Amino acid sequence: MNIPDAACTGCMACAAACPMGAGEPVLTRSEDERGFYVPKIDEARCIGCGRCEAVCPAKHPVAKAEGQVYACRTRDPATLSASSSGGVFMELASDVLAAGGVAAGAAFDEDLRVVHIVVDSPEKLRRLQGSKYVQSDMSAVYAPLKAALDAGRPALFSGTPCQAAAVRRVFGDNAGLLVADLLCHGTPSMAVFRAYLEWTRQEAGFGKIDGVKFRLKKPGWKTYSVEVSSGGRTVARLSKQDPYIRGFLGGLYLRECCYGCQYAGPRRVGDLTIADYWGYSKEPDGFEDDDRGISLVMVNTDKGAEAFGKMEGRIDSVRRDIADAAKHNWVLHDPSARSERSGDFWAGLGKVPFGSLVAQGLAAREK
Ligand SMILES: Cc1cc2nc3c(=O)[nH]c(=O)nc-3n(C[C@H](O)[C@H](O)[C@H](O)COP(=O)(O)OP(=O)(O)OC[C@H]3O[C@@H](n4cnc5c(N)ncnc54)[C@H](O)[C@@H]3O)c2cc1C
Repeated sequence: MNIPDAACTGCMACAAACPMGAGEPVLTRSEDERGFYVPKIDEARCIGCGRCEAVCPAKHPVAKAEGQVYACRTRDPATLSASSSGGVFMELASDVLAAGGVAAGAAFDEDLRVVHIVVDSPEKLRRLQGSKYVQSDMSAVYAPLKAALDAGRPALFSGTPCQAAAVRRVFGDNAGLLVADLLCHGTPSMAVFRAYLEWTRQEAGFGKIDGVKFRLKKPGWKTYSVEVSSGGRTVARLSKQDPYIRGFLGGLYLRECCYGCQYAGPRRVGDLTIADYWGYSKEPDGFEDDDRGISLVMVNTDKGAEAFGKMEGRIDSVRRDIADAAKHNWVLHDPSARSERSGDFWAGLGKVPFGSLVAQGLAAREK
């Protein structure tokens, strides 16, 4: 089987489609030398049925649609303050849960690994809230999502567009499934995130790190801040002081396929697309930007429009157009650019302290 190939995004749809998944699975999640998830086939036990290749969204692109563009914000202050942008994800998910459904999205586990999980209560939903800027492990999401859909429960899936495409390939045009993709400029691996956490631990004189929160709202939505905590102590940095965010935004260590992302553009795989509304202006007819977060929402299908309509009264929203949204959000026209020092970063990872490695990597660009 030609799995994985260079376009592999690590979505693990292939493992979900493998008929040899029970007991000791033939197709399992592994990691490449940079720590990105890749499938691994036990060739000796593979029966060569081809289902892994047939489902692969990198080999068989899914249909995309371009929809209407809105700037939105939840009216609930608590939801807004704990969300990364305008809190639209939580509003969407709350509707699906209220209808007896489930929500699938990215959460930190107890080891601070980012994993896609399925939840069905408002308490557990909070684990999905907020961006985690690390590649999420999709391995364990397909089975519970299938169980929910098979039981006739509505389901919301939210994730990066390559993950959303994978869910589309696995579940097809399932009437109960609502897909919200994010605008995504790429993902670092858990190996990079771990190197950053270890560097922070040493810099701060921390013990075991037990919490990470991206995009704190207190210093302002636009600051892209991050907070790391250990035993009740915290260190918080704004994006320009934080090496992880700087390297992430600077294209220093994204997955290789992100630099040629087929989902960067206005045509989307989700019923809805959620993102930050960078460069939002209240003129001529909008609401005030108080720097607590504004979501860009793209309503791409009829199903998306129905879900969007249900949020009326709970969100502020104003219609905009794609040209306005794309002015300050490069993911709507191009994939992220790889930093010219990306190779040096990978060569130094694990050998040079994380902070110095990023500073060296971005020095040329920032001169
Ligand atoms: C890796 C990554 C890159 C992004 N890049 C951009 C960008 O370039 N431009 C832009 O406008 N927006 C980007 N976003 C989206 C943005 O950060 C917000 O997630 C989005 O605006 C939704 O905000 P919200 O307030 O509605 O919901 P929130 O509650 O903040 O978002 C929660 C949702 O995000 C999903 N999520 C969180 N972390 C991950 C992850 N690691 N992998 C997959 N899904 C995840 C969860 O499943 C959950 O559904 C990116 C998000 C991620 C995770």
